Amino acid sequence: MSLQLESSKRRTFAIISHPDAGKTTVTEKLLLYGGAIQMAGAVKSRKTDRGATSDWMKMEQERGISVASSVMQFPYKNVMINLLDTPGHEDFSEDTYRVLTAVDSALMVIDVAKGVEDRTIKLMEVCRLRTTPILTFINKLDREGKEPIDLLDEVEDVLKIACAPMTWPIGMGKRFKGIYHLYNDTVRLFAAADGQRATEGELIEGLDNPRLDELLGSQAEELREEVDLVRGASHEFDLELFLAGELTPVFFGSAVNNFGLQELLDGFEMYAPAPKGRETESRFVDANEEKLTGFVFKIQANMDPAHRDRVAFMRIVSGKYESGMKLKHVRIGKDVKIAKAITFLANKREQAEVAYPGDIIGLHNHGTIKIGDTFTQGEELKFTGIPNFAPELFRRAQLKDPMKMKALQKGLTQLSEEGATQLFRPVNNNDLILGAVGILQFEVVAQRLKDEYNVTCMFEPVNVNTARWVIGPKAEIEKFTAKVRENVAYDAADQLVYIAPTRVNLNLTEERWPELQFVATREH
Ligand code: GDP
Repeated sequence: MSLQLESSKRRTFAIISHPDAGKTTVTEKLLLYGGAIQMAGAVKSRKTDRGATSDWMKMEQERGISVASSVMQFPYKNVMINLLDTPGHEDFSEDTYRVLTAVDSALMVIDVAKGVEDRTIKLMEVCRLRTTPILTFINKLDREGKEPIDLLDEVEDVLKIACAPMTWPIGMGKRFKGIYHLYNDTVRLFAAADGQRATEGELIEGLDNPRLDELLGSQAEELREEVDLVRGASHEFDLELFLAGELTPVFFGSAVNNFGLQELLDGFEMYAPAPKGRETESRFVDANEEKLTGFVFKIQANMDPAHRDRVAFMRIVSGKYESGMKLKHVRIGKDVKIAKAITFLANKREQAEVAYPGDIIGLHNHGTIKIGDTFTQGEELKFTGIPNFAPELFRRAQLKDPMKMKALQKGLTQLSEEGATQLFRPVNNNDLILGAVGILQFEVVAQRLKDEYNVTCMFEPVNVNTARWVIGPKAEIEKFTAKVRENVAYDAADQLVYIAPTRVNLNLTEERWPELQFVATREH
């Protein structure tokens, strides 16, 4: 099949939502539609499959957060869906930002009772940076919540995006009877979930169908009036506005009951964009170009505890991947033969034979691949826009057993490759300083060091308040490094970082060294 055709069939997206809105449940149910009834490590593990999970997955479960993000690929009707999981907890937002650089659209899940919540607002801002088209699923209609009309107003006011209802709920909570599809003119009656199977309530053609009155009683007439009102008062779906990120199609349902999701998936199939090209430092790369290009947006160590490997997730931007092909790892200027890339079909790891634009493949990483790296078939390209944020919190790693120094260094380096934490080595001592955006990261790292590297270590306070990457003329940088030795360090990529004890100190330093730039976000 031609490259263009295969690529046009891809739908690559991530779910954005506030914790507890139902992201995990939606993910699980979507996988059911793809016939991919696999609930391994990727989706936050539920009661049933505890046995297979590591200690640190247990930690996730106890805290009710999903730390590890991964990739699930499954076919749906005529398309191949690539669903990228994003960690829900705030402390892992950097990772989430980077995952969002690898998608072409996003699904926003909102709890009908809670409406628009903080985390959704933040994630929406990120989507806006790249004008990512957004589909919306309003979840938990089987419970009492806000009036759907009010909820759409809230989304429009708070998130500044027009809402086009695609389906409309018939009642809610105890009176929840189903949904009406405004464009197909069909009513699907609500049937509570039957175990893990995808349930389908009766489908009734036409809003005027007397069968509705028979089954819904007075709610049938209420529905007709409401639909009239909604058609008059809300936006109509407009593909162009949707693709421009200015309008979101809205679907209603109940994820836990597997209800309303099929309509949503149909929306993805029909409207969500096929893989888009990406900007590089030198030119725009179109998804239909023949030659393979891709960028690494995520690295995960020890994904499979049995294998102790590190996987770099690469989004294919253009071209076709074939097992055994040679790719240029642009940053280090080396050709590498990629024989054992992993795909994530049905959430099971398999060796990838072929992959197309929009797909994610996992490359085995032995420490040479970094987040943001570009791979090509020879061209000197560097994809842009994959951020690395300055950490806000710093701790010094304190070893219990000094003999384990080597293992500690290895563990901290490898875990920092994942991008959630950053490792700094001061120039004038042998400390290992870990920076993170959220406090929970230190606990996660300590736990993983124990589980995965057999190192017991504590993280203790250190006199660092903020970090800035230092950029400028070489001579000036050398002068600077010599002068402020006690406050400079190298990051994992050997880039110079100013680790400031206070904000005031940072301001003073910035004034004192006008030829240097102190940047908070290092683009990989
Ligand atoms: P996440 O934190 O966004 O991943 O949310 P989860 O998928 O873990 O869901 C949070 C809670 O809401 C869980 O207890 C779910 O069982 C529950 N939940 C999810 N979908 C629904 C729904 O449609 N109706 C109801 N009543 N509860 C739901």
